[in-house]
Amino acid sequence: MPDIKDLNDKIRINRKSVWENRTVEEIEDFCNDYKRYLKDSTTERRAIDNAVDMAIKNGFIKLEELLKNPPEKLAGTKVIVENRGKSAAFFVLGEEIDSGINMVASHVDAPRIDFKPFSMYEDSGFALAKTHYYGGIKKYQWFSLPLGIDGIVIKNNGEKVKVRIGFEKDEPIFMMADLLPHLDRREGDISKVFTADSMNLILGNTKMKESGDIKDPVLLNVLNILNDKYGIVEEDLFSAELEIVPVDEPRDLGFDRSMIAAYAHDDRVCSYAAMKALLDAEKFSKTACVVLLDKEEIGSVGNTGARYHFWKRAVKKFMKLFKSDADIEDILEKSMVLSGDVMAAYHPSFKDVHEINNTCKFGMGITITKYTGVRGKGGANDAHAEILAAVRSLFNENKINWQVGLLGKVDQGGGGTVALYFADQGMSVVDAGVPVLGMHAPYEIISKADVYETYRGYKTFVEEFKGVEV
Ligand code: MN
Ligand code: MN
Repeated sequence: MPDIKDLNDKIRINRKSVWENRTVEEIEDFCNDYKRYLKDSTTERRAIDNAVDMAIKNGFIKLEELLKNPPEKLAGTKVIVENRGKSAAFFVLGEEIDSGINMVASHVDAPRIDFKPFSMYEDSGFALAKTHYYGGIKKYQWFSLPLGIDGIVIKNNGEKVKVRIGFEKDEPIFMMADLLPHLDRREGDISKVFTADSMNLILGNTKMKESGDIKDPVLLNVLNILNDKYGIVEEDLFSAELEIVPVDEPRDLGFDRSMIAAYAHDDRVCSYAAMKALLDAEKFSKTACVVLLDKEEIGSVGNTGARYHFWKRAVKKFMKLFKSDADIEDILEKSMVLSGDVMAAYHPSFKDVHEINNTCKFGMGITITKYTGVRGKGGANDAHAEILAAVRSLFNENKINWQVGLLGKVDQGGGGTVALYFADQGMSVVDAGVPVLGMHAPYEIISKADVYETYRGYKTFVEEFKGVEV
């Protein structure tokens, strides 16, 4: 008869917290850098620019530069492939490329509020802007919240002007005002009570002294300020991408400072962890790649989203440089993708949406999500057992704290990630990322331990992963 405790340890799942396995110092060091990246990456364009900067500082060169002047020895060459300033791929070439690529794919866009193309108007003495939300938001969360404006405006002559206002302490902020409780008799479904039509951003409230009886003098005043500061006119706002986002910077959360509250953890947290993993990796078992994508929050559409595989053209160029006569399809078949995306963490106040054994928990490490989707796994990338086996043993061998996560109870709701678009290419794919509380809220919460362990997981993957046995 075996000792029951030994038996229990041997055959049952026993999970330890990341905090027990790592030092607070290493976790804090990593998270301080992450907070700096996040503070400065308020839009997908800025997130990409900052990732490109990180890469250049670490010896990466742009693809065009590589093609002009290919080195004798390709192994170890680090290459940036940019796509329209809104998505990018970062490669570290291995000894060859025929055995496939180890890839981490994540997205840098986040739920936000956009201006409509012709957005500005005057009403009741206010200059206001009509908006259109981007991604899956709960509208009420964005009222009464300090907001900034960040993005670009392209003038009629083609000049690109950067606009960023509200993020420094001495700059003005913007808001969408909610209705006072005293007069709010709206009842019913909260998604109907807070309407998109009332999400109007307050821009100003004074007119120019000289305005006389001109139409919309308050709006004219606002447009005049914009003209003075940025040299833009009203029609320029048509060819603009100005994003309305929360202004407060990432902050430590809790007496023990074990968590971070911030805008857009989803999914700049997996994007940053993946970039850092690629930059810090000390060796590479294959050609490695991190792809950072746009438009995930609206279905991965468009030529900067995951459905357009801009990075494949670069792979074909690398094949030429390696003098490979393989088919690209064969290379993709041998490639493995960790789809780096956040997952809904177990919520202590809303337990009934989760099924506890299959929900990720704070502090327990990188979350592997076998499938997402809705109803009967509709629209999911349902990772094969062989893929889960390969990733699980990789993480176990390298002492990475990993856990399982699913998006709520069956039939509770659902969602998706970029995973299926890579699986469509014949690649082996599974979701692996960071647990989040309050996903898609203006401030989301993560555990410092989990982002650190996710980084360790990605780093181990590019350093050690040999492929999936099929
Ligand atoms: Mn995400
Ligand atoms: Mn999301």
